[in-house]
Amino acid sequence: MPRDPRYDILFEPVQIGPVTARNRFFQVPHCNGMGHQMPAAHAAMREAKAEGGWAVVSTEECEIHPSGDVTPYVEARLWDDADIPALAMMCDRVHAHGSLAAVELTHNGPTSSNLYSREVALAPSHQPLKYGYPHQARAMTKHDIREYRRWHREAAVRGRTAGFDLIYVYAGHDLSLAMHFLQRRRNHRTDEYGGSLENRVRLFREIIEDTKEAVGDTCGVVVRFAVEELLGDEGVTVAEAKEVVHMLAELPDLWDVNVAAWYNDSIPSRFAKEGAQEPFTHWVKQYTTKPVVGVGRFTNPDTMVDQIRRGVLDMIGAARPSIADPFLPKKIEEGRLDDIRECIGCNICVTGDMTITPIRCTQNPSMGEEWRKGWHPEHIASKRSESRILVVGAGPAGLEAARALGQRGYEVHLCEASRELGGRVLKEARLPGLAEWMRVRDWRVTQIEKLPSVTVYPESPIAAQDVLDFGADQVVLATGCSWRRDGYGRSNGSVIAGFDAQILTPDDLMDGNVPTGHVVLFDDDAFYLGSSMAELIVARGGTVTIVTPDDTVASWSTNTLDFRHIQKRLYALGVKQVTSHNITSAGAGSISLEHVWSGARSELACDAVVSVTARMPNDALFGELEARQSEWVGAGVKTVQCIGDALAPGLIAHAVYAGHRYAQLLDGGAVKDVPFRRHLPVAQVV
Ligand code: ADP
Ligand code: SF4
Repeated sequence: MPRDPRYDILFEPVQIGPVTARNRFFQVPHCNGMGHQMPAAHAAMREAKAEGGWAVVSTEECEIHPSGDVTPYVEARLWDDADIPALAMMCDRVHAHGSLAAVELTHNGPTSSNLYSREVALAPSHQPLKYGYPHQARAMTKHDIREYRRWHREAAVRGRTAGFDLIYVYAGHDLSLAMHFLQRRRNHRTDEYGGSLENRVRLFREIIEDTKEAVGDTCGVVVRFAVEELLGDEGVTVAEAKEVVHMLAELPDLWDVNVAAWYNDSIPSRFAKEGAQEPFTHWVKQYTTKPVVGVGRFTNPDTMVDQIRRGVLDMIGAARPSIADPFLPKKIEEGRLDDIRECIGCNICVTGDMTITPIRCTQNPSMGEEWRKGWHPEHIASKRSESRILVVGAGPAGLEAARALGQRGYEVHLCEASRELGGRVLKEARLPGLAEWMRVRDWRVTQIEKLPSVTVYPESPIAAQDVLDFGADQVVLATGCSWRRDGYGRSNGSVIAGFDAQILTPDDLMDGNVPTGHVVLFDDDAFYLGSSMAELIVARGGTVTIVTPDDTVASWSTNTLDFRHIQKRLYALGVKQVTSHNITSAGAGSISLEHVWSGARSELACDAVVSVTARMPNDALFGELEARQSEWVGAGVKTVQCIGDALAPGLIAHAVYAGHRYAQLLDGGAVKDVPFRRHLPVAQVV
């Protein structure tokens, strides 16, 4: 289908200094947990974006010197010439599809850790490190500033040698010296680099000028600048940012603007919707004639066009939308809007960087698997047999299995007990703020409707005899899981006394049984669901005390950047938090608590208890079928496999991945013990 002319504007080229972007789609820098340690995997991931139509494809942060070492986080690196080949691999892949490659040079100053390099960290003034403490960064001397400028210049030249078309000067996210010099809270200098705004901007200006001088004849020199930190006068404010942009307006070839820190920039969908940064960035274009890029988890082409037509942005910046769908631009270009796999704003992609592992995405199971497993976000091998496949359960695992198997051309029969498809997504997306999570279901259902070889049977609960009667060659059980009621979990190796029929679980609440009065919510899960349940109860008029054996509520949510937003929300809703306490028993109208560290005991009165601890797979059907294995041959059944939450409960991302993996592997022969390619350390020849 040809593209709708109203989107033509998105496909206009944009001049960025000496180079031209072929359209307005700009994949801004994003971390990925692979960085300099997995260059082939990194290059293949970036290539998918270029192939999918992003005119600019950027690296993540790129360290320029060992004194700005961000270990244990794995980012790009251009410390010396030895780092060039790894990044050249990415540039070649990006260029192969006609896109521009950008590198985000940075020295992280007091937000470095130097845990690997053991260098003393640098900062505008003496101050504690933000990460990797306990240690301090020292105030930079004039000599240090000259050295820093030299490192930046040399890294820019190396970037050009690697093949980059755009070289970033980075002053964002509270993560780079150019920004640290701007911040009053970090810069207490009394020389020409401190005090007045003009002085605090000096270093930023100098490295833009240095970079232009070094590579500006052939490379676009672009800046990433955080225009608001939401910290009041302690941080960069829009008022001050306006003066900065006014001072430097025409110096860079492009302005890429956003809010800081990362938890505000990549805010989860639970707390902000598409286009949430516009109130902070809309003014930038009035201060410069250079192209302006901004982000806002843009997935809707109409919103994108609107941003450009209203003069908010010149290019549509995206990290997460390009992760969830590397082919987003191409789908708009080809008029395939309902094929766009929209980001759900869950930030599982962020956990890759946070846990120092390759990036994963809930919506896009191929993300991070392009090189090591050869998975492509759009293509999959055709079927290798005439197998008929029965998929039981249409949650994320069953839907993705049916979709990907159907894409391969297999005959698929998808049976779901409920009237509506979606499984857990259907329920969780109805929790406060999580509506966008429904996109996991919606995209798959839309795709399945287009696949002639997939038949869907709603309201079809399947029993073991049904499976044997069906006559399928392969049977996939994606029957989900259920929350436990007995309190067993990370903190309790046996059931909690009194945790029986009177205790409620998240399943009960999501099925509409929301308790009233004062509710104690026992959260031993440590992620998003406990706080979501609390929000739901408060929305229905109840009051909540969250009890957790952890030292903080929702501790794992730091990995998705939810944590501080959850905390603020809970405080705003008046939810009480009792941390470092386990529940020893539940009785009528109260629970007994034990302090984790002191052992002190106490009682807490309540009207109801909700337990969020652990789940059990719904694998009874699997058990019955296993018990009847002798009947499989007669029924024509070759294999029966449990996948997703029915095998081992996890994230929605795990379930989608499990469904996709099943489809990828079918008829592929034996799976190797190590089922993916690895980057192996190679003895270096000196
Ligand atoms: P996952 O996250 O692994 O995809 P979900 O819990 O989201 O698991 O989805 C499981 C789905 O399977 C639910 O929609 C549920 O109604 C369905 N289901 C469970 N058992 C059966 C069954 N025996 N027959 C048909 N559908 C089933
Ligand atoms: Fe979007 Fe979630 Fe995928 Fe990240 S993991 S790109 S937030 S869908």
